[in-house]
Amino acid sequence: MSSSSLAAGAAEAGGRLLPIWLVKEYYWCPVSAYLRLVGWAERPTASMLLGSESVPRGRIVELLEERHRLRELLWEHPVASRRLGLQGRADLVALTVDGGLVVVEAKLPRLSRRRLWGRDRRLAVQLAAYAVAAEETLGAPLEAAYLYSVEGDRLVEVRVSPRLRRLVEHAARELHGMLERGEPPGRANVPRWRCRLCSYRGVCPHGRG
Ligand code: SF4
Repeated sequence: MSSSSLAAGAAEAGGRLLPIWLVKEYYWCPVSAYLRLVGWAERPTASMLLGSESVPRGRIVELLEERHRLRELLWEHPVASRRLGLQGRADLVALTVDGGLVVVEAKLPRLSRRRLWGRDRRLAVQLAAYAVAAEETLGAPLEAAYLYSVEGDRLVEVRVSPRLRRLVEHAARELHGMLERGEPPGRANVPRWRCRLCSYRGVCPHGRG
């Protein structure tokens, strides 16, 4: 999708900026993303329940300093992409002496690079959404993006490739489209086990399992 049609999509939805966490939800299940978008009860995830006080900031900085020359640390920093119609608060945006940005999102579970391209891909796409919004907000290029696993005490680098950026754009377009149409997608195409875990099972027309 082109930048101009994305911007048009956001404008048609009243210029509303949607929360970035919906991008992750969209790649969990587009129907549950819709239900959350229109105000059904929250389905809190483990990472949402991770309070900022549980994030070991000092340890994250220690790990980052092994890889980057940091200049300024912006914790819980608000970021927005008007182009995509998304906004959120990144756990950390670090400015580097080389003029770039490093974006970090903390997650509770152990993470592996392999799973980030499989079962946990939504975490990589959400991180990419924060990175794109940080670039637009701060007007600087992305140097690197990481997920920090609290349980694993490690940084996992996610390359914010053109493909990952396209996935962010796709989710933004679909979320704004659903909002504009006022209806969820016709199909969910999610594995049965997700439906079995889902608190929307009782109201969802596409629930399986
Ligand atoms: S029940 Fe299944 S299809 Fe429906 S919102 Fe939940 S995960 Fe999605």
